[in-house]
Amino acid sequence: MLDPIEDGLKLIQSRPEGVLQSELWKELGVDSRKCSRIVKKLEEGGLIDRIEFKKDGIKTYLLKARQMPVNPGDLLAGDELIPCIGCELECIVEECHPLMDWMYQLAIVGNTND
Ligand code: SF4
Repeated sequence: MLDPIEDGLKLIQSRPEGVLQSELWKELGVDSRKCSRIVKKLEEGGLIDRIEFKKDGIKTYLLKARQMPVNPGDLLAGDELIPCIGCELECIVEECHPLMDWMYQLAIVGNTND
């Protein structure tokens, strides 16, 4: 693990339904105190919301990533629109060839923000 804050954010972002703080630290492989510091930084940075939650009568927090506004330029590789827009394929991101091709194109030509 290189950056536990970044890893924590990625994990929370990967779960649209949210992650319980009482489970996050186990998944990140850190202790609960360190996890609290990670969560505090993410919350202070406005990247996540922390919602009170009770599981089995024990108080914890449900952590949810905030939706960030999308810059339209980030959806383009040159003049090629990211294939996810309007996609009707069964989505397995790690195995998606259209997305891989688009990312390859992005690496070559960059996007409109460059
Ligand atoms: S990752 Fe691939 S399958 Fe998933 S929405 Fe994007 S283009 Fe479609």
